Amino acid sequence: MTQAWKAYAFRYASMPERYEDQLFLGGDPSVNWGMDYFFWALQSRDRTIVVDTGANAAKMAPKGRTPLIDPVSALAGVGIDASEVTEVFLTHAHWDHVGNLDAFPKAHFWMQAREMQSVTGPDMTYTKIRGSYQMDEVQKLVGLVYEDRLTFLDGDGTFAPGLDYLLLPGHSAGQTALRVQTENGPVLLASDAVHYYREALEERVFQSFNDVKEMLASLRQCMAEVGGDLDRLIPGHDPIVSARYPAETHLANGEPVALRIDQLPTKPLGI
Ligand SMILES: [Zn+2]
Repeated sequence: MTQAWKAYAFRYASMPERYEDQLFLGGDPSVNWGMDYFFWALQSRDRTIVVDTGANAAKMAPKGRTPLIDPVSALAGVGIDASEVTEVFLTHAHWDHVGNLDAFPKAHFWMQAREMQSVTGPDMTYTKIRGSYQMDEVQKLVGLVYEDRLTFLDGDGTFAPGLDYLLLPGHSAGQTALRVQTENGPVLLASDAVHYYREALEERVFQSFNDVKEMLASLRQCMAEVGGDLDRLIPGHDPIVSARYPAETHLANGEPVALRIDQLPTKPLGI
């Protein structure tokens, strides 16, 4: 029997106003897309794998983002104790994805070697590329190497039964997605290889990138991976994800936190 994973997307912050021209090259400044911030967790019978760490409130607010819940509390809401987590998969090293590394003191981490080369090498001499990273987080990643707590990945592979990773570069040099087998079939947890459903559908050029052509090719590859079925694609920042997957935990105001992305969406995509 194939391994089926339970999969959560945790909505930990948002930016209710995020206009199309701030997101995409040639975007319309009057169209508001909004933006949600997620990290993820995958669970099998005997393993819990956290995917990215989110960022703590202290890092979100000065950047104009609205922190909704501390990622540690979001995990606790579904019974995951961050201080006991032993496996953290990093999809890339942008600040909103690695902004809480200290919350996982017992964890071992995995990330593409390409991403580390990028964040510690000549790529970072370009302020445009460097803008999506934070020096203290990169220094912590280097620290993990010296503590033997970071294993480097090279391209595509199998992380666990029913869990494959795919290098989909462009947004960042080592941007990685996960193909997750669930009881409802495979889903592609795209992380930021695809931020929004419509970005993939329309091959839009996201404003934060390492390599534009690679980024566009990765959008196309994501669509091919899911055979064009957007119900199998989980983008990294789309508020539509929050609106259409069943939620297991909520904020006091009723907004969702822990979304079950291994379940079938409860609403049609509507785009
Ligand atoms: Zn990113």
